[in-house]
Amino acid sequence: MKNYLLALLFCLSFQLLAQDHHPRCIYDEWFTELMKSPAHREMYEASEIALAQASTKYIQTDDYIIPVVVHILYRNDEENISEEQIYRQIEIINEDYNSSNLDVSQTPEEFQSLIGDIGIEFCLASVDPEGFATNGITRTYVDTNEINYFTSTSDHIKHPEYGGKAAWNTDDYLNIWVGPITPGVLGYSLPPINSIEPEEEGLVVGTNFFGETNHDQYGGGRTAVHEIGHYFNLKHPWGIGGCSSDDYVSDTPVSESAYYGSPEYPQISCETSDMFMNFMDYVDDSVMVMFSAGQGVRMANALTIFRSELLESNGCGTPLLIAQPTVIHTSDEISADGAIHLNISGVAPFTVEWSTGALEDSIVDLAQGVYSVSIVDAAEQSLELSFEISYYGLIIDSDNFESYSSDSLISEQSAALWSAWCTESAFASIDLVNPMEGLQYMEINGADGSTELIHTLDNQSENAYDLSFGLYVPAGRASKYRVFHDATCIGSMEAYSVEFGSDGNGFVRVAGQNIEFDFPQNQWFLLNQLIDIDRDLVELQINSEPKADWTFSWTAEDENGYPKLAGLLFDSQADSSVMVHYYVDDFQMVLAANSDLDIQEPYMISDVNLYPNPAKNQIVLSTAKQEDCTIQIYNFQGQRVHSERWMASSEYIIDIKGLSSGIYFVNIQTATESQNLKFIKLD
Ligand SMILES: [Zn+2]
Repeated sequence: MKNYLLALLFCLSFQLLAQDHHPRCIYDEWFTELMKSPAHREMYEASEIALAQASTKYIQTDDYIIPVVVHILYRNDEENISEEQIYRQIEIINEDYNSSNLDVSQTPEEFQSLIGDIGIEFCLASVDPEGFATNGITRTYVDTNEINYFTSTSDHIKHPEYGGKAAWNTDDYLNIWVGPITPGVLGYSLPPINSIEPEEEGLVVGTNFFGETNHDQYGGGRTAVHEIGHYFNLKHPWGIGGCSSDDYVSDTPVSESAYYGSPEYPQISCETSDMFMNFMDYVDDSVMVMFSAGQGVRMANALTIFRSELLESNGCGTPLLIAQPTVIHTSDEISADGAIHLNISGVAPFTVEWSTGALEDSIVDLAQGVYSVSIVDAAEQSLELSFEISYYGLIIDSDNFESYSSDSLISEQSAALWSAWCTESAFASIDLVNPMEGLQYMEINGADGSTELIHTLDNQSENAYDLSFGLYVPAGRASKYRVFHDATCIGSMEAYSVEFGSDGNGFVRVAGQNIEFDFPQNQWFLLNQLIDIDRDLVELQINSEPKADWTFSWTAEDENGYPKLAGLLFDSQADSSVMVHYYVDDFQMVLAANSDLDIQEPYMISDVNLYPNPAKNQIVLSTAKQEDCTIQIYNFQGQRVHSERWMASSEYIIDIKGLSSGIYFVNIQTATESQNLKFIKLD
């Protein structure tokens, strides 16, 4: 249905540009095309009948409060309009929908008794769709290399994949998109009928016409007023044109066509004096000053029949008290460098009290341990949270397979950690021949049948982990494992899979792409993967050599509330036809420093800069202070790969040609200070 609309609207754009006058919107063209389809015409007529039956039920009340979100899309600072301009636009809408606009007095005496006080209030949202406090404004930068203008025919402004901004739930919010839309139209919106995609409901207004601007004809903020009229089912006073076409409102005189500019009163068409000063006409902003009472009834009916969920929305209510924490663990070298930062949303101001006695949103210089905080907001909502600060290197989970009896299945001996996935039994066994270390390891042999054995990772949703194990793939055989965002049998969400082929080549399969790498066959090797949940990054290493890195999660996952790291499945089948058969030993999950230690920077006590980054042959460290330092470089597993003294000087150069490519951390220590920096080594 959407494609149908887009196709017809595309044809219209040329027609719009060819007109002499500036059409305020594309409603008529859209409507005319829509009515050519019998199915749409039937749907539309049904909605007209519903409205006609309801029209006597309209009672004006103070309860029509509409939460509004304004999405600003901008290519430059000028288009990133100020909050004041947005506030003024909301004010103008409220004035016009409550006939408290000063210029309503311009209404000719003939029509004064018909002026409608619509009685709808519009408020910028105070609560976003997740319950967080908001100012009801979103701002999205539009890359000018990608997009010159949004067009009224494409609706791309509402779709992130085309550089736009996705709607907030259109049942709960009136969405207003403001951006650089193609010249030829001031704005557009469509009425409440089923053929509009829910995520496209709302109005679009060109940046130059939103709020009070310096545009000589359309700088009065009336485009939004007019488009909201369509959103609440109003038509133009001329219907679709001609004296036989109506707008289904009895107190707006039939008029033949649109008025432009600043006509002199009276204007006659279809044998009546026309209400050209109506907000739904095409005259200049300074000339349109009124809705009619009949238009008010039609809008209120559209609101209570088709858009009634807006009236139930909490969009202008009280935001929930929520605190999103950033937890930074202590390093294993410095005992008190952990931190907890809270991003608090609710009704400010907040009272924050930590178990340490601190009263700030953030606490720093923490040793490992448990910390709790109590938060109360101005609406007397309260929240108690507690956090555990661990140190990097803390082993979360490990299994060296030495404790199992070799004569029964692992899943029967350790069902809490290792279990058959989606089947009743698993055939992973314990083997003793040629172990990596110790005496035993786990063997998975595809010939044994269904052997999909999953290890729970306890639904981690934050921090970074180094997940490692020894792997042995006999020559001519294959191996495969999968990591899950959600490991429930029905509706599982796979994050990525890693396959080891019989030719010594492996690949990571993630989000439709394959990343190839090589691995040693017929021998044990150590596989590490840094899974950085906070930064959405995975890096795979084999025997300490970086092999691949990729993005860990995607937004849809987070929005659906899936845990990010749920389980690891050792598979019994590979995508290749080769027999799966492999050994696993020393499974371990360790809390790791995340890949962006820069987050600690505000709390660092030194001031060393590192460049270039990424780097190929050398890195340069520079500082204003000149004192002796120790410099140590660690790979992402925490292994020290370089150490040297930096004698007092402002610059120091380190040769990194010998390092393999990947992410490294540099720790710089003086007698009293320490700083961590990160760089990426390129081949
Ligand atoms: Zn219009």
